Amino acid sequence: MSWRKGMSLFKTTTSRLTLWHLGIFSLLSVAVFGIVYLSLASHLQAQKDREIMDKAREFGVLFHEHGIAALQAEFNRESESRGTRHVFFLLESTDGRVLASSDLRQWSGLELAPLHQSPFAGKKTVFTTFSLAGHRFKIRSVSLLVDQGLILTIGSTLQGDEIILERYREIFGIALTVMLVCGGLVGRLLAVKAMAGVQRITDCAAQIGGHDLSRRVPLADEGQEINGLAVAFNAMLARIETLLSELEQITDNIAHELRTPLTRIRGIAETTLKNNGTIDDYREMAASVIDESDNLIEMITTMLEIAKTDSGTVELNLGPLDIAGIVEEAVDLFVPLAEDCGVQLQLRKAPEVLMINGDRSRLQRVIANLLDNALKYTPAGGMVHLSTARNGEFIKVEIADTGTGIPERDIPHIFDRFYRGDKSRSTTGSGLGLPLALALARAHNGNITVTGTDKGATFCLFLPSASPKQS
Ligand code: ADP
Repeated sequence: MSWRKGMSLFKTTTSRLTLWHLGIFSLLSVAVFGIVYLSLASHLQAQKDREIMDKAREFGVLFHEHGIAALQAEFNRESESRGTRHVFFLLESTDGRVLASSDLRQWSGLELAPLHQSPFAGKKTVFTTFSLAGHRFKIRSVSLLVDQGLILTIGSTLQGDEIILERYREIFGIALTVMLVCGGLVGRLLAVKAMAGVQRITDCAAQIGGHDLSRRVPLADEGQEINGLAVAFNAMLARIETLLSELEQITDNIAHELRTPLTRIRGIAETTLKNNGTIDDYREMAASVIDESDNLIEMITTMLEIAKTDSGTVELNLGPLDIAGIVEEAVDLFVPLAEDCGVQLQLRKAPEVLMINGDRSRLQRVIANLLDNALKYTPAGGMVHLSTARNGEFIKVEIADTGTGIPERDIPHIFDRFYRGDKSRSTTGSGLGLPLALALARAHNGNITVTGTDKGATFCLFLPSASPKQS
């Protein structure tokens, strides 16, 4: 494996999790073994100290009761039974004169001075640990004042204790190696399991690759977080799928809607050219081209306005407005058109001032679109009824007509861009009036609802009230 490949291996989250697990596991193991080791070492030392101290006290009593000769005999007996290489006993005066001792031939180089370097500064007992050439193990000694000017020293090798500690270190080394291997494997296993869900989502994303948006990440029993991620990912896919299909449909519609007037413009121009017309024919052609172009420009402008409003980038010129007043103005404006259509316009005035916070010109446009539709789809002799009233936290503007109505199957689509009901094919329009009205209502945190029967349609515009009703 190349160095670069080896490095990139540690970039995966699985490897990093494994390393983290291994690191924490090793640290904890070393800490636990260290604590046990230190307490074992201190326990062994305390035991050794107790042992040599007891012996020193025993010798002290013997010295006081039976004198130096008895002590020398006991030194010899005790050192032979324990091994002259393992223990030594010594009675000396504070000026360094040896009065009695065990066989010290195995203890060459034993300098007693270091044992008493801080001799009994206020203490009666001094413990020392030291190494001696020719001795593999360290030596622990205790010196105590047995009489005025007399020091009794007992030393013992730490062979037994050091062998125990050595064995402990060996066992710890082996155990640590085994634990590290197991810890690494367990860590790897856990990391792979934890990341399996993420991997599944990654695989699914790679397979989708922008082509098959209908695929979804299957949910498995890998814990709430991974399932939450999968659910969020699936929801995002569903949203992208809907957006893309909407975009496709809108693009188709735009292409179709642009093609029709452009074909018409081209047709007018072609016919006029072919017929070798008079200057008046050309004038008429130019006028028609201007009309068609105006329609096109208006359609494109409306499309842009809807897109901007939907995306929230439109800047509303907000201010306090009396919405009932705006409805009244709109009715006044549409009276001539209603008379031309033979439709009666009826307005029920609100008993109070209904204030909202809104963009006057945009809300005028919303109401005009709804009113224009009501007149457009109501045959002569019909009636359009408008009212404005408080509705909880909202102000409701209702526009009800006695026109053609809206078939149930059309209701879910009439707010889609370019959607036109079957019944409206004979009337002029672009299918953008309602989408724009709804986008503007939503930009004001409001909404538009619709109900339609074959006896007419009712549109309700809801806008948040600026002065909630006092209770
Ligand atoms: P347009 O009126 O230009 O066709 P709109 O977006 O304003 O486009 O309306 C979309 C469709 O909703 C219309 O084609 C028509 O089928 C239906 N519609 C809207 N208002 C009414 C109404 N008052 N009565 C009956 N149908 C309506």
